[in-house]
Amino acid sequence: MSESAKSTRPTCVRCKRPLSHCLCAHISVVPNRTRVLVLQHPDEQKHPLNTARLAVLGLQHAELWVGEHFAQLEETLSTVDSACLLFPAQEGCAVQPLAAIAPEQSSLLIVPDGTWRNARQIIRSNPVLRGLPHLSLALGEPSLYRVRKASEPAAVATIEAIVRTLSVLEPEQDFQPLLAPFTVLVEQQIQAMGPEVYARNYQRG
Ligand SMILES: [Zn+2]
Repeated sequence: MSESAKSTRPTCVRCKRPLSHCLCAHISVVPNRTRVLVLQHPDEQKHPLNTARLAVLGLQHAELWVGEHFAQLEETLSTVDSACLLFPAQEGCAVQPLAAIAPEQSSLLIVPDGTWRNARQIIRSNPVLRGLPHLSLALGEPSLYRVRKASEPAAVATIEAIVRTLSVLEPEQDFQPLLAPFTVLVEQQIQAMGPEVYARNYQRG
């Protein structure tokens, strides 16, 4: 399928993928105790490899807000026992180690979504976020995210970051099914660009 045909193709209202590549059949809803709130930069919304939306669709308690400044954030934070910010490790940045949360606690995981620059912009625009403990992922397994060049070595797709974090916070729950539509998305992208282009540009040596 040519790139020029892309913009006119009908899109699934739910997953926002072209109908011919709709991922909804691969999305199952996983129960989570830790509420997930994705704060998505507007630039990210139109990105074809927008994995945060897939994460939100695949979780029982998750929301996605699009914007830069979120006036309602403070009110939302006042409704939970604890909240933390998922923001990847930076040199010299103090990081809260991940630990399982008590079942009786209501907690909120806030996930800025966008390029690193845009995610930092969201944190700057919402000072209330700066006071929250920052969680960071250990490097762990390499990302499945083979089609979007990571600008920093620790980068993983947003959906992978959410899965890894929830798996630590709620060890009794299997969050792997959340990754099913993402795996299909990655395969679709490799098919679309052609395996040769993929091997030339993206495969790790
Ligand atoms: Zn769909």
